[in-house]
Amino acid sequence: MLPHIDASGAGSFRGVSRTKVLSIVGPGRSGTTILTSVLGQTEGFLNVGELRWLWRRGLLEGRACGCGAPSLQACPLWSRVIEKVSAGRVATDLAAEIGGALEELAWRRHRLRVIREATAGSSQWPALEQVRQVSEGLISAIAEVTGARVVVDSSKRAQDAAVIAGLDEVEHYVLHMVRDPAAVIHSWQRRDKTTHAADGARTMATRGFLPSMVRWSENCLGAEALHQRMPGGRWMFVRYEDFAAAPRATVARILSFLGEDVPPPFVDEDTVVLDVNHTVAGNPNRFRVGPVQVRADDEWRRRMPHRQQLAVRALSWPLLLRYGYSLDTRSVVGARA
Ligand SMILES: [Zn+2]
Repeated sequence: MLPHIDASGAGSFRGVSRTKVLSIVGPGRSGTTILTSVLGQTEGFLNVGELRWLWRRGLLEGRACGCGAPSLQACPLWSRVIEKVSAGRVATDLAAEIGGALEELAWRRHRLRVIREATAGSSQWPALEQVRQVSEGLISAIAEVTGARVVVDSSKRAQDAAVIAGLDEVEHYVLHMVRDPAAVIHSWQRRDKTTHAADGARTMATRGFLPSMVRWSENCLGAEALHQRMPGGRWMFVRYEDFAAAPRATVARILSFLGEDVPPPFVDEDTVVLDVNHTVAGNPNRFRVGPVQVRADDEWRRRMPHRQQLAVRALSWPLLLRYGYSLDTRSVVGARA
């Protein structure tokens, strides 16, 4: 739920010494935006969107905040957070430095090393150490400004979650969300998905079949590598299809996983009233406000060519089995082992 930011910058939630951060890890187009929006409506929770983009898309490219402010510097929440994190430096200079370090960490050949070294809690790698330090300051500034007990970060990639996993001042949890890759790839290929956002009409990016398949697999393999390094009780797996079939019950399970004794923010079994939020970057759906019904989107079953559905299964069957999906394209969600 959106915290009230008063004139002094002190949020209305009670303060805690160690902020909980929930990292949402999973391939894009897996329903992570709607899940994060729902979690952000929970009392004491703050949905910050994809925090990894704060520097480049937020500060350097000047994109709008989820609250409708034309830039993060014009937003009452982020302007205070950025002021604290910058500590007297020019915010865009710091953003250029951190943006560069994050790009270095994102190189394909660096990804597993980032997961390994970041989760270990310290590193001799200057780019990683710089990102670790600024992430720690950023989360503590967000908690201080808003008073949020739980910060939900939907950066989606395992290496970004790994950085937070290695921070001493954070009580860190990971929610790994997976959706049938055929649905994800169909969504990436669609060219008609336009959302009218607070900052004008925005069209979702599109991507071809093979690049989408590679991205889906890489994201899952990164998640598996991170899972091996996470302490017990800090990792939860959710399939999009199970969330869409029982949204309220799934969110109740997530709140219990986080040790949060608060009710799921639903007005009935599948409807949530979304308030404005302060998300950094991400899917244009992040600007949605008002009542939203969580419903399964299975358009791909009717519109995706059958040969593509078969190709998805041929290319991803080991992970499909691991995540409890059926290899039969007529009956997709199997029982999870
Ligand atoms: Zn804002």
